[in-house]
Parts: sequence; structure tokens; C-alpha cells
Amino acid sequence: MKLALLSESPADEAGIHFLAEVVLGRKVQRVRPHLRARGWPNVAQVLPPIIKHLHFNTDTDGLIVVVDCDDTVVHTERHEAEGYFHPHCRLCQLRAIFRQTTKRLPAANGRKRVMRCVGLAVPAIEAWYLCGRDDTVTEDAWRLGQESGHLPYTRSELKRRVYGTTRPSLKKSIECAVKEVARHRRDVRRLETDFPGGFGALANDLRDWISQKH
Ligand SMILES: [Zn+2]
Repeated sequence: MKLALLSESPADEAGIHFLAEVVLGRKVQRVRPHLRARGWPNVAQVLPPIIKHLHFNTDTDGLIVVVDCDDTVVHTERHEAEGYFHPHCRLCQLRAIFRQTTKRLPAANGRKRVMRCVGLAVPAIEAWYLCGRDDTVTEDAWRLGQESGHLPYTRSELKRRVYGTTRPSLKKSIECAVKEVARHRRDVRRLETDFPGGFGALANDLRDWISQKH
């Protein structure tokens, strides 16, 4: 299976690539060049031309996009209702961009479209890295904190818990990402339980790839 990955750093890519292989149950080959965006809103801006490029110029099966939620709306079960779209949810926004961009594309390179896979790390990818070793870090904890005005932790604190510093080197970031995601090498159920909206959506999109391919 071939996939492209759009993320904000090579460390994120290492972690997401590993988790994608666990969900898919097979090795995935990355399509190069590696794509990178400079955070939000840059991801949303570069996404349409990237989708078109992958569609017409490569034979990649799908594109994985993962962004940090930061202080925006958490994607929840409610957003999954047919036709629902939350204008301030980054995951809903990215799905809409996929939909609009691929709507009128003719088939190319043997497939109808580049499959979509979108994830939202709440509030940042370091929260996923802490899954299974820090029970206080969950999507629910963050969302309830947003609603009450008392956030349970900051993004800097999450970084410190994962890397031991808020400004890790690239090498250190990759080492920590790989080490933390290895806890989920057998399955990703814990991640889906603790991060149902943002990680659950990513896992579901990946499973849809498999069912569409066979
Ligand atoms: Zn949403």
C-alpha cells in the first residue's frame, strides 16, 4: 500500500507512519517527496494542490493528514452525523477540502480518487504519545477543560512530559515519538478509546481504505 503523509514535522511523520501500519496491518510505502506544512492554516491552503498532484502524478493510494487541534473545537461523535459540518473544527474543515477538491477530478492512474485519511491531535500530537502512560491526558479531559475554562494541561506541559523539554531537537523528537507509539504496536484500541474523535477518525478512514481496496 502506498501513502503520502502531510504533517507538520518529520517526528510526527515517524509516529503517524507507525500507527498507520498497525491499523492497516501491513507495511506501507511512503510516497516521496515528503510533504510538510507550517501548521494551520497553511495545511488547509496547501492541501488542494497536493491532492491534485498526488492524484494525477503519482499512484499513491491515499493521503494522511494530521493536524494539531490547538485551541480550536474538538471533533466529536456529533460531527459524524450525515451532512454535519462544524465550521470551526479543523477535522471537519479538512474533510470538506478533500470533498471539494476530489469532486470533479476524472479517474487517473488506475483509481477514482486518492483516499482520504484525516486525524486531529487534541490538543497536540504529544497527547497521543502519552496515551497508555498518563491517564489524565485524553480528549474528554481537554474538551471538559475547554468547556469549564480550566484546561487540564498546556501544550508545553505535554511536550515536557514526552521529551523532558519544551524545545527538543529533531533527533530527540523522533526518538521519543518512535518509543511512545511502540506501546500500541499490537493494536490501537487504547488510542481510539482515549482519543475517539481525532484518532478514532484517522483509524476509521484507514480501515475504509482496506475495505475499498478489496
Ligand atoms: Zn469536526
